[in-house]
Amino acid sequence: MELKKLVWVHEKLARVYGPVQCRPHSDPLEQLIQTILSQNTSDINSDRAWRSLKKAFRTWQEVLDAPESKVRHSIRKGGLAGIKAPRIQNTLRIIREREHKLSLARLRKMSSEEVMAYLTTIPGVGVKTAACVLLFSMGRPVMPVDTHVHRVTKRLGWAPQNASPEDIGPMIEKKLPPELILPMHLYLVEHGRRICRARNPLCAECPLAAKCERLNLQ
Ligand code: SF4
Repeated sequence: MELKKLVWVHEKLARVYGPVQCRPHSDPLEQLIQTILSQNTSDINSDRAWRSLKKAFRTWQEVLDAPESKVRHSIRKGGLAGIKAPRIQNTLRIIREREHKLSLARLRKMSSEEVMAYLTTIPGVGVKTAACVLLFSMGRPVMPVDTHVHRVTKRLGWAPQNASPEDIGPMIEKKLPPELILPMHLYLVEHGRRICRARNPLCAECPLAAKCERLNLQ
């Protein structure tokens, strides 16, 4: 994976998908819960569940103190509510035990490696979820590798076919300039949704076709 090729891909995708508006700013705890809600569901459903959770509860303490059934009911539009409601309450419980309050503000003073270790020891919080907190909340140059990033990068030939998401994130982080990590993540997700789809990728319309390993091997 050469830097020149990565920058070329970034430029091509930037031309297609336009400038990135997203600026890292969110509260780390809000980002963590939002990302748990987004696990294994669409953006639309996860947004609905997030809005509904925020409407049903004014504070994280209320979410923690509520019966699980109430939390489950509030996020039912997002899918997998039976798994995510106890996961969210357990996450809040662990954070309160560790921090003596419902806040992850202290994470901002930690290194990215420390934050990753802290978050991934919470059950149900994996590397991708922790990477989303690091990137979107704290502005750290960490690449979350979701299903789209995983598929597109392997097809492009950036990683071997058997590479896991945990392998691919650090490989990209080592090569790409830090300021391009956030836009590259968003572009790869968008590209995976619109063009480099899991089934029937639209290779004939793809701006990356000239340097795509999958296409050039066919
Ligand atoms: S050429 Fe096809 S496989 Fe390669 S990145 Fe584009 S859509 Fe995906």
